[in-house]
Amino acid sequence: MQDKHGHRISYLRISITDRCNERCGYCMPAELQEWLPREGVLTYEEILRIADVAAGIGITKVRVTGGEPLTRRDVIPFLERLCSLKGISEVGVSTNGTLLSKAAPGFITTADALVAAGVRSVNISLDTLDPSAYAVTTGRDYFDRVISGIDAARQAGFERIKINAVLMRGRSEEQLLPLVDFAHDNGLLLRFIELMPVSSGDVLSESSFLPVAEARRCIEENLGALDPRADFRTNGPASYFSVPGRDQLLGFIGAMTNLHFCETCNKLRLTCDGKLRPCLGSHLEFDLMKEIRSGASDQGIIDFIEQVVERKPMEHDFRNHYFPGRKMIAIGG
Ligand code: SAM
Ligand code: SF4
Repeated sequence: MQDKHGHRISYLRISITDRCNERCGYCMPAELQEWLPREGVLTYEEILRIADVAAGIGITKVRVTGGEPLTRRDVIPFLERLCSLKGISEVGVSTNGTLLSKAAPGFITTADALVAAGVRSVNISLDTLDPSAYAVTTGRDYFDRVISGIDAARQAGFERIKINAVLMRGRSEEQLLPLVDFAHDNGLLLRFIELMPVSSGDVLSESSFLPVAEARRCIEENLGALDPRADFRTNGPASYFSVPGRDQLLGFIGAMTNLHFCETCNKLRLTCDGKLRPCLGSHLEFDLMKEIRSGASDQGIIDFIEQVVERKPMEHDFRNHYFPGRKMIAIGG
């Protein structure tokens, strides 16, 4: 599928829950929203049907996210079915990592179960290596769990493990080098992400914003000039650089400051309440759950998806006085 701006759409990001066991301020507003009622969330059968139909019209890669996807019951059998859909060549999971080392039925860890289900890559969020700062950012004292989750992921044998660190002025600066070293020592692909206006409250004030260029400069002052690696791409919008004298790449996701950020966008998003969104940073969303629950045929779903692709904006609206309508946790990061 291709939209009118030339974006080639091959990637579907699916949020399977709005629930989470953490409380990151930049994702969830402090004045906690109500969770959706169970009937307001797409069933696994409905998600699999959408993914199957989407695979027939060019979606080849899927990332499962949330909320925290690993908190949803029976997520492993669901992922196993998702991974076996014809046409879907790659399934990844985004997680806060807190549940990866937990035992799963028939497996020592949930990470092992994910790999056995066919999940090829895992993105784990980790903004800091300081346990008390971690607790402040996430609202939970789960730092040790995440570290053991990362160990479990390494042992499980994913093809790729990425660490996502959201940049925040006043919190991130001192953590840049420790995170770079941690990623290097553990063979992890680290990406720094600019804060996006998808929550509410103080954390999203101008003074919390730390541009990727500044983070990069700070790393370069200590480790030497980073070498741009335009040849290296994953499925996402990160720009990658290699670290001098090391076998290490770093990714920078300049969602706010990189004016070319949206040019290579290949994504659609499906929220857990069944809205299909052509862009994270636009209020456009279309109610696919309603279509499905009123008996849409597969062709009806195809037409619906194609119409959403048709409406995909050229670029996100974050720089244009965007006011968060839905929080990140409700959209799926
Ligand atoms: N719970 C999982 C996790 O934390 O990785 C998956 C969902 S989370 C919404 C997906 C990603 O979005 C995480 O890497 C998180 O750090 C990022 N994220 C959340 N709010 C953000 C914001 N306001 N700006 C930038 N990234 C954000
Ligand atoms: Fe939960 Fe992930 Fe959002 Fe943090 S970023 S509140 S872990 S969904």
